[in-house]
Order: sequence, then C-alpha cells, then structure tokens
Amino acid sequence: MAGTIHIVGAGLAGLAAAVELAGAGARVVMHEGAGHAGGRCRSFHDEGLGCLVDNGNHLLLSGNRAAVAYLDRIGARATMHEAPPAFPFCDLRTGARWEIRPSPGPFPWWALSPATRAPGTGAMDYLRGLALAFVGPKFTVAEALGLPKGGAGREMFWDPLTIAVLNAETDEVAAPLLWAVLRETVGRGAHACRPLIARRGLGPSLIEPALAFLGMHGAAVRFNARLRAVEFERGAAKTLRFADGEVAVGEGDCVIVALPQGMVAEFLPGITVPEGTRAIVNAHFRVSPQAGPPRLLGLVGGTAHWVFVRETLASVTVSAADRLAEEDSGSIALRVWEDVCRALDLGPGPLPAHRIVKEKRATFAQTPANLARRAKTRTPWPNLFLAGDWTDTGLPATLEGAIRSGVSAAMAALGLEKPTGI
Ligand SMILES: Cc1cc2nc3c(=O)[nH]c(=O)nc-3n(C[C@H](O)[C@H](O)[C@H](O)COP(=O)(O)OP(=O)(O)OC[C@H]3O[C@@H](n4cnc5c(N)ncnc54)[C@H](O)[C@@H]3O)c2cc1C
Repeated sequence: MAGTIHIVGAGLAGLAAAVELAGAGARVVMHEGAGHAGGRCRSFHDEGLGCLVDNGNHLLLSGNRAAVAYLDRIGARATMHEAPPAFPFCDLRTGARWEIRPSPGPFPWWALSPATRAPGTGAMDYLRGLALAFVGPKFTVAEALGLPKGGAGREMFWDPLTIAVLNAETDEVAAPLLWAVLRETVGRGAHACRPLIARRGLGPSLIEPALAFLGMHGAAVRFNARLRAVEFERGAAKTLRFADGEVAVGEGDCVIVALPQGMVAEFLPGITVPEGTRAIVNAHFRVSPQAGPPRLLGLVGGTAHWVFVRETLASVTVSAADRLAEEDSGSIALRVWEDVCRALDLGPGPLPAHRIVKEKRATFAQTPANLARRAKTRTPWPNLFLAGDWTDTGLPATLEGAIRSGVSAAMAALGLEKPTGI
C-alpha cells in the first residue's frame, strides 16, 4: 500500500491495527493523546507501593484467539503466565470455598457434580445457561436465564460471572454478549479456559513489546498528540487537527480512528455510538511475599469481586462500581482490605501500603439498547475506519474485542474484507 495509514489512539485497538499493518509492510503513523500508550490497559510505577501496578487487573483466557495471536505477533506470549483451567471461589460471608473446573469438551460435566458446584446450587442452575444461545438481542442475561434474584444459582454463579465479563448487573446487560464469550471459551472446553495473567504487568506484556515491534517495522508513534477535529472534503477525511498542529490526509492515505466512543461522537458526525459507561475500581495492596506463580480468586458476598495475587501485591477488582467510585479512596481501601484479609486468610491487620484506581469509564454500558448503537468498521467516508472495544465486534468491551476491532480495521484499510486466521 503506497499511502500512509494514520491511526488515532494507541489503546489495544489502535495498537493491534498498527501491528497488523506495520507487519504487512504498510507505512503507519500513530497519534496518541496521552504521553503513553495502552489507554485503559496500562501499567505505571506507584511511588507508595514501590512497584509497577496495572490500572486494573485484566484477565485473558486461552480461548481469546485474537489476543493470543497478538501476543505471538509481538513476541510477548512468554510474558503471560498460563494457569490451569480452574477458577477458585470464596464466599466471604461463610468462608466456603469451591473451584469451578471446566470440562475437557463443550458439555459442562462439572456442573453435574456437587464437588465442583457452588454451595446451594444444582446442575440446572448452570445448564440453564444454554438458554443464552437462543434469545434475541433484546434480552438481558437475567431474562434469558429466568433465575430468581437472590437465588443461589444467580448469586453464586451467574451474577459474579456476568459482572466479571460485562461489568454490569445481570438484569442490565445483553444476553448475546455473555453467550459470545461462553461459546468461545467454556464452549470449546477446558483448553480454551486457561487464565492468562501478565507476569510483570500489562505494560510489559501487551504494550511495550507492541511499541518495540512497531519501532522495528518503521512505524512512527506520536505521543501527546490529541485529536481536536476531523475535517472532510468531497466525502472523505481530509485533515486531522491535533492540539499540536494538523496532518493532511493525502490521496491514498487513510485513517483508523481507535478512540473511545465519546470522542468519536464528538468528531465524526452521524456515527451512532453506545450511550453511558460503567466504572471499575481496582485496589492494590502490598502483602508479604506470596509463593508460586500469579493466581486469582473469585469472591462473593463482599465488596471485592476478584483478587489477583502476584509476588508482594494483592490486586482487587470491583466491577459494576459506579456507586463505589463516588466514595473516597480511603474508605474504599478499608472496606476492600477487609475482604482481602478474609480471602487470603491473612488475619486482621493494619491497612498496608495501597493504591486505589478508579476507572469511571471502564466500559460502555453493555445493554440490549446499546447493542444496536455499536458502529461498524467502515464509515460513510471511504478513507476512514473505526476500531475500539465499543464497535460492533459481537463481543463485550474486552481486550479480545478491542484487538479484533483493530485487526478488522487494518484489514479494511488494506482493502481486505475479513480478518484472516482469527
Ligand atoms: C479497570 C479495567 C479492567 C478491565 N479488565 C478487563 C479484563 O479483565 N479483561 C478484558 O479483556 N478487558 C478488560 N478491560 C477492558 C479493556 O481494558 C478495554 O476493552 C480495552 O483496553 C479497550 O481498548 P481500546 O483501544 O478500544 O480503547 P482505549 O484503551 O480507551 O484506547 C483509546 C486511546 O485513545 C486515546 N485518546 C483518547 N482521546 C484522544 C484524542 N482526542 N486524541 C488522541 N488520542 C486520544 C486514549 O488515550 C487511549 O490511549 C478492563 C478495563 C478497565 C478500565
């Protein structure tokens, strides 16, 4: 391809597009508004904790094919710890512990054994999940499952699963999105359900190797280049106006806009985007050195939803956290630390060094109404394409969705309709 491909936004969607294009020999220039890449998936050094922390725990599964292909492409697969396909849980109220272990094939045989089910649940609580495959886009997860609120099946399994995957309550989010994830992971068996956890952090696994790959392939990345406007002429994008100057989109050039949906609504007239966002709060605590590889533990009955333990860090995720994110960080830390002590059997102790990260716009609100508002890769302007976890990937707002959207935009920019090998 003779022209330059301008990619605006160096989150995972923009990076995935850039890696695909630079790897194919295209001339790529990335423009990122912040002083660093990664967007909602990044690491930074925390002074108080004295180590690298992630803005939020990010879980990938081995069934996330596009993410695994991206890691392979940038040479970073070995930076991820691939854990066995088992999901330990703890009920913070009763201390009960159990482990969900996906079966080798698609049928969830594990659900038939009380030993691998959550306390108080029966096989039918899990098998009802098949209903998710047959409902239309207007159904929420709760409507599709038809399980009563407060019942064990919902409280111990479907609510935690839905909140983890879709970052909102079961009675709010669109059923097809949860089904899409189940189909590509548990639906393919245990081998597709191995958790992939960044050994050192998101930056060293997903961002820095991508930037090194881009450098090696001659792509330019401009930081602190904030897009202010896109100008159009004769039905095509003509000029990108940045805070630090303007860039002409020449004949044969094209643009991939890989920005969050709010920015797209501002810059691109007539593009419909999802409305509303949902927050995630993360809390990182210094703990005494923990033996073994990184591990994760699902929690019910408290404030915390997941705790990831790595070396001297216990990192907690609270999803669907719009209300919590309004509280002050000190009281969040106290509340979540209590959960960590119980989950990791630490015994009561003073609040250690910690860091609270509030991501108020972690994902778009993944409601049935918003499914219809997700935009396609192609736009009315033939030289402008869209990428981002909010675009119409058929998947939730996740790394896998963001990466697929980037690859799709790259393929469209190259004049190829469908991504290959994904
Ligand atoms: C706390 C948290 C936990 C999460 N956990 C998981 C998880 O466990 N598993 C999972 O798969 N996903 C998870 N996600 C979701 C995942 O992080 C996102 O889906 C993904 O990172 C989105 O990538 P993106 O490129 O679409 O958007 P973004 O990361 O938002 O990238 C957009 C980029 O555009 C830049 N930008 C914005 N405005 C401008 C402008 N005007 N000009 C130029 N650049 C601009 C931004 O700085 C950013 O770099 C989590 C998200 C959060 C916040």
